[in-house]
Amino acid sequence: MKGKVYLVGAGPGDPELLTVKALRLLRTAEAVLHDDLVAPEILKLLPSTAQIHNVGKRCGKKKILQSEINSLMVALAASGLRVVRLKGGDPLVFGRAGEEIEALRSNTIPFEIVPGVTSAMGAAAAAQIPLTHRRASDALVLITAHRASASRPSGEDAADWSKLASSGATLVIYMPGQNYSDIARRLTSAGLSGQTPCAIISRATTKHQRIHRTTVLSLYRAPQLASPTLLVVGEVVRLSDPATMVDGFVAPDMLSGNDSFLPGVLFKGLHSQAPRLGVDEEPIA
Ligand code: SAH
Repeated sequence: MKGKVYLVGAGPGDPELLTVKALRLLRTAEAVLHDDLVAPEILKLLPSTAQIHNVGKRCGKKKILQSEINSLMVALAASGLRVVRLKGGDPLVFGRAGEEIEALRSNTIPFEIVPGVTSAMGAAAAAQIPLTHRRASDALVLITAHRASASRPSGEDAADWSKLASSGATLVIYMPGQNYSDIARRLTSAGLSGQTPCAIISRATTKHQRIHRTTVLSLYRAPQLASPTLLVVGEVVRLSDPATMVDGFVAPDMLSGNDSFLPGVLFKGLHSQAPRLGVDEEPIA
């Protein structure tokens, strides 16, 4: 008798951001294959009887191949076990779930996908960034810096990024790496203004969370924050920290087309305030 595989999103880190369904499945799992990004607090929820496999790509010395993960997952389910394939954030966002789904289908293993809070949403909530705003951005793009530079010719990459930059969408860049100068160069050569605000959010929703707010122009001198990190780029980042705004803030008309639609007065006292835990500020024009 075949078991079943559940591709489950573990959320960005905070165990309270697990879904109720994910929690139920974790508590009843017989075998678990998890990534490095899954928080230790979440792994503590697994029953002591479960077989636990860390299949994180960075675990141990030997790199685990995606095909080996697929085979292990299929073999465990084929032996009749209730298998949880646990991934950071949401399983369908930059999680290589596509390849695992193909393997499950071709081996006729029953499976179900349980969504999780993707790290973009966790990070936005942590930094209090409205990812869309009716007067600043009406689209949201999830993109990875990593894949764009690794597997596409540079000409094609530049074209992709310029389409995104001209759309005015909020960009959330997964796997930004540590080379912020390179990302800033790619964003500006894609046509984005150097004054565009951005935020690096490190270890969002965990107790080690750090947020550094800056502009595309000053990104090159941003501190190297601990991974995992996300980079959020777009005018909405100006709205990230209500504590720095004047009382009775009323959002100005952002439809004017003027680059500086959110005047400095909104951030009155920005630099005189004591820094809040985990939040660094660079001036945003
Ligand atoms: N499936 C995951 C993404 C996997 S790709 C999701 O939905 O979130 C791994 C990338 O996700 C990391 O390089 C980083 O860019 C981002 N990431 C994951 N957890 C994060 C966290 N707690 N804080 C900041 N970024 C995170």
